[in-house]
Amino acid sequence: MPQPHTLKIADIFSSIQGEGLRQGEPTIFIRLSGCNLRCSFCDTKYAWRKGRNYTVSRILLEIRKIRKRFPAEWVCLTGGEPLLQDLSELVKNLKKEHLKIQIETNATFFQPLPVDWHTISPKPRNYFYRPEYKSRAKEIKLLVTRSLPYDVVKKIRREFPARTPLLLQIESNLASSLKKGLKYLKLATQDGLRNIRVSAQLHKFFGLP
Ligand code: SF4
Repeated sequence: MPQPHTLKIADIFSSIQGEGLRQGEPTIFIRLSGCNLRCSFCDTKYAWRKGRNYTVSRILLEIRKIRKRFPAEWVCLTGGEPLLQDLSELVKNLKKEHLKIQIETNATFFQPLPVDWHTISPKPRNYFYRPEYKSRAKEIKLLVTRSLPYDVVKKIRREFPARTPLLLQIESNLASSLKKGLKYLKLATQDGLRNIRVSAQLHKFFGLP
């Protein structure tokens, strides 16, 4: 008999979406285990290794249980790097539950999944992203770390369609990161770049997961 499809999951929890343009919306997060990168500033390092195998049916049971007390319309597949694992079965079943699906990815992997919202967040050192995201990304998040060069902001802004917002996300709401983010925003405006904004991590202000 074929074995049911399983995924390694670090956490399933409900909160508001704290980042990006969907900020503030009730969301159920499925945090998948594992990441192909090792960013020094990563705030979910526990997801690199921690995790338990869940069948897709077990994940759906958890989601239904959460929705009884927290009837969110959105599910966010995040990590770690969620696209290290084959998400086709999970996405197909989440669709059957009439959920809207967001994927947050570092963009080094791509799967042709029928999701509603791709958030990409290219990471150092080379800020590589798969070309499929040029037409698919609903938003691009660049974390304003000490090492983020302005040239990367300029390059990525120019490579994506003007309709796709680029967010300079302040690292852990730090004052030094905000200062740098505002400086880059000013430079970008002076360079004629459009659809760039600074953004914060709302859930961290509120002390939410
Ligand atoms: S890509 Fe994201 S999850 Fe992976 S190490 Fe970097 S910040 Fe952490």
